[in-house]
Order: sequence, then structure tokens, then C-alpha cells
Amino acid sequence: MISAPAKAIPWNKGKRGIYSPEALRRMSESAHRRSSWLKGKHWSEAMRRKMSEAHRGLPTPWMFGRPVSEAMRRKLSEAHKGRIPWNKGKTLPPLSAEHRLKLSMAMTGKKHRPYVRNPNRKTVEYTPELRLRMSIAHKGQTVDEAGRMRRRLAMLGKPKTIEHRLNISKAFRGANSHFWMGGISSVNAAIKNSIEYKLWRQAVFKRDDYRCLGCGQKGGNIEADHIYPFSLFPRLRFMVENGRTLCHECHRDTPTYGHKIHQYKKQHQLTC
Ligand SMILES: [Zn+2]
Repeated sequence: MISAPAKAIPWNKGKRGIYSPEALRRMSESAHRRSSWLKGKHWSEAMRRKMSEAHRGLPTPWMFGRPVSEAMRRKLSEAHKGRIPWNKGKTLPPLSAEHRLKLSMAMTGKKHRPYVRNPNRKTVEYTPELRLRMSIAHKGQTVDEAGRMRRRLAMLGKPKTIEHRLNISKAFRGANSHFWMGGISSVNAAIKNSIEYKLWRQAVFKRDDYRCLGCGQKGGNIEADHIYPFSLFPRLRFMVENGRTLCHECHRDTPTYGHKIHQYKKQHQLTC
């Protein structure tokens, strides 16, 4: 059990005459006027020297952030001429691997902004010239496995814009793809796996609220059907108006599904 400390006795209890009547009067007055009790008192010359010695080289806290007059600046400049800065020629020790990794993790996925000397310039314009300069500066830089993984994690789960998807599609089309085997897939298969086709299907689903127009089932095994058949009307292949959402069963029952297309062709006397 912790016992309460003995009641502290004030250091001046019972003591009398430690302040002169003059000091007591000054203290009382200052308390009323809220001015310093040191008012009117002067440090002795020796005390002043001692304090000056003790504070030499220390910053003066009451000067922090205060504007310095032009005359004072000149005086300071004169006084400090020829003085060697404390950090001249000194360099910081290299950052540890752990420190570098921490910094890297903190910055991953953040927009990089080039360092701007002029703080009045808020934003940086990526002019073709600047882009070229940056490109040259970063030439030959490689990304290690950890860096690749960090970039992947930073982008993971973020949806790409349609424009971005189309750009990727264009860049890796045909022989540019590492899956390219000399053009062995049929034209139809190529179209049906294309990004344009996927976007068409998505637009049809969205317009129909992912609901089968035949039976009303929502979601599940829905498919996008071409009202005017895909094979017979090439120009209508990517028109959203020519699409409708059907579940697999309702899709199969359409008069144009699978081999029924031949019958449909004969009936409508289409030649293509
Ligand atoms: Zn259905």
C-alpha cells in the first residue's frame, strides 16, 4: 500500500525577515499593477557579464520568426563574415536499407512532382521539353522485383479508364502480343474477345439492368444477344441498339441461335 507523503512544509514557514520591507512593498505593488517585481532593479555589472558568458552562442528565442531590420541584417552580416558554417563540408551518413524501404513505401502510388525551386510556382507543367528531359534522366534505370511488386500493389484494384483499356488493346494487338501464333484464331473469335466487344456487351447489360428480356431473371447466366445476327449484319455488331440481354436458355430459344441461323437465312432470303 502506498502511504500518502507527509504534508510538505512550505520552505518559508515561520520565517520572518527574509524579504526587506522595501522588497515586500515592490512585490505587493507589482502584484497589483501586474508588472515585474524586477522593475527598477538592475543587474550588477558582474552578473550581466556572467549571464552574457553563459548565453553566448545560444539562439535568442524571442528573436525567432521576428523580422530583422535592414540595418541589423548588415550588422549581422559584418559580424559573421569569414565564419565557417558548422555544417560546411559535412555530409549525412547514407540512409540504411530499412530507412530507404520505408521512404519508398510511403511514396509508392503518390503522384510524383518535380522539385521546384521557386515556391511561387504552384504547379509544374509537363511540357514536351520537360518530359524529354525526364526521359533522358531516367534512361537505363531498372526496376527490381520488389519495386515491381510495390507498383503492382499500388495499382491493384483500381479500375482502368475505358481510354486506358483501349490503349492497352491497341498496343498489344496481333503480332505485338506474346500470345501471337501467326494469326491462327478466326476473325470471329478475335472480335468476340476484343475490348470493343466486351464494352458493347457491358453497355447492353447495363441498359437492360442485367435482366433477361425473355424471362426477367436478373444476373446469373445472362448473355448479350444480337437482334440482327452477328454473322449476317457486320455493320450492326457494335451497336448497343442491336443488343439485348437474355439468359442462356432464352438466348438458345431465339430463331437465330447456333445452327438455326441457316434456317433463318433461308427464310429471310439473305445471302451472306
Ligand atoms: Zn431468360
